[in-house]
Amino acid sequence: MVKIQVNSSNVQYNEDHILSNYDYQSTKVTQDTKNDTITVTPVTTRYTFKTESKVPKLGLMLVGWGGNNGSTFTAGVLANKLKLTWQTKEGLQKADWIGSVTQASTVLLGENVWVPLNTLVPMVNPDDVVIDGWDISSANLYESMERAQVLDYSLQVQLKEEMSKLQPRKSIFDADFIAANQSSRADNIYENLTRSQMVEQVRRDIRDFKEKSGVDKVIVLWTANTERFVDIQVGLNDTADNLLAAIERNEHEISPSSLFAIACVLEGVSYINGSPQNTFVPGLVELAKRHNVFIAGDDFKSGQTKLKSVLVDFLVSAGIKPESIVSYNHLGNNDGKNLSAPAQFKSKEISKSNVVDDMVESNKILYPTIEDYPDHCVVIKYVPRVADSKRAMDEYMSRIFMNGTNTLVIHNTCEDSLLATPLILDLVILCELMERVTWKTEQHVDYQRFDTVLSILSYLLKAPMVPEKTPVVNSLPRQRYCIENILKALIGIPPDNFMMLEHKAIPRK
Ligand code: NAD
Repeated sequence: MVKIQVNSSNVQYNEDHILSNYDYQSTKVTQDTKNDTITVTPVTTRYTFKTESKVPKLGLMLVGWGGNNGSTFTAGVLANKLKLTWQTKEGLQKADWIGSVTQASTVLLGENVWVPLNTLVPMVNPDDVVIDGWDISSANLYESMERAQVLDYSLQVQLKEEMSKLQPRKSIFDADFIAANQSSRADNIYENLTRSQMVEQVRRDIRDFKEKSGVDKVIVLWTANTERFVDIQVGLNDTADNLLAAIERNEHEISPSSLFAIACVLEGVSYINGSPQNTFVPGLVELAKRHNVFIAGDDFKSGQTKLKSVLVDFLVSAGIKPESIVSYNHLGNNDGKNLSAPAQFKSKEISKSNVVDDMVESNKILYPTIEDYPDHCVVIKYVPRVADSKRAMDEYMSRIFMNGTNTLVIHNTCEDSLLATPLILDLVILCELMERVTWKTEQHVDYQRFDTVLSILSYLLKAPMVPEKTPVVNSLPRQRYCIENILKALIGIPPDNFMMLEHKAIPRK
């Protein structure tokens, strides 16, 4: 693998750390509406970033390990680690990480030199990730992979021995939160535990995994079924103390996913939510802050939404006005079955609904008031025949020059779990990296961690959570540059500004 060494007095590589002194350029903007004036002041802030160079042995625990994503992810890690190849009617295939921004995308260093994104700073190698997890279904990981019908059969056969050894831990199940149609697979669950005992059990499981596997650190990621939204209630889940007290009182309106996240926060383990539900109730966000533990969510951004957050960015930034966006989906996997229940569909509808907001709000020429915002409609139907090969059909109607109409119709065969699996890897690898990064400015004595709501992961999430009072960014290109430019800052190189002045305005001696 290529090794990048930065030649600058602002950057030091020593045995334990990379230290980077970095001038962050931003702008302070004040608006005087009375005089119709905007004043912009360029601001330079000197940051020092410290990145631990030693990559730990990483353990990943998946909630919903036996699902389509969980089993495909596990098979993907093993197949890559064992460098497996398999025969199909299209010829010999070999394991890869296509679709992973950390493993399969490149960044421009300068002068047309592109390097793999994961060579900028030390990152976990996917081959070294140790996987464990929970599922309400007792199927072992081979049986889960077979049930998922995602990977080619000749690959499944080669993985049979290894995957059969992997058994999900018993999990927390509450039939009130996922669809009733899931109850038939719930044969691997804790019964008669109070909410507080459930939290303790998850904490014990994390410690047990850590001890038995010898990993240095653990990250937990929810890839279990979509739950319904929980009610936000004063005295129940509005503050950290109220939430902890509610658990002690064994209150019902605390979802299994929140219980997992609370257990992780109390164990000091980062928790990522790959589903749409509101796991991170206000009390949980406060608890994570109190314990200085990373949380990130919500809902993997894999197919339809990813395209939407590119397409609307392109249209609106080109001065074209999308007026209606209609998205139909049909899918036939267990996720689709779960989402065929109204309360669980509602969670998904909410997370899919706000994904163009920032782009629309950015252009007051096209959208002067909220009444001008585009119609946005999302439909999901369960059709067993299409299995994991989700179909997403979108129609974008835009207003163009002089009352013209431009209509784009897109048919997307999503191959759901094959799109989601690389995102799981990226979420975990970037989250782990962020645990090794600290920073300070001239105003700080001690190094700090990034905010506990880890918004750098927004690129991978449909409804990104951000720290309080922070603008949400949905635009995919902007989210991608956020990752790239922060990684560059860690080694003291400037963000790409695409000006290419060295070619357009060549300095003469
Ligand atoms: P799946 O139904 O195949 O897998 C979910 C697994 O979770 C099942 O094995 C189920 O038994 C298990 N489960 C349910 N409740 C549990 C609990 N309380 N504890 C432990 N296990 C539990 O679904 P999937 O296709 O793997 O998708 C997983 C999640 O990811 C869904 O919420 C889905 O909406 C979300 N998601 C998927 C994609 C994608 O696949 N492209 C994109 C965005 C979001």
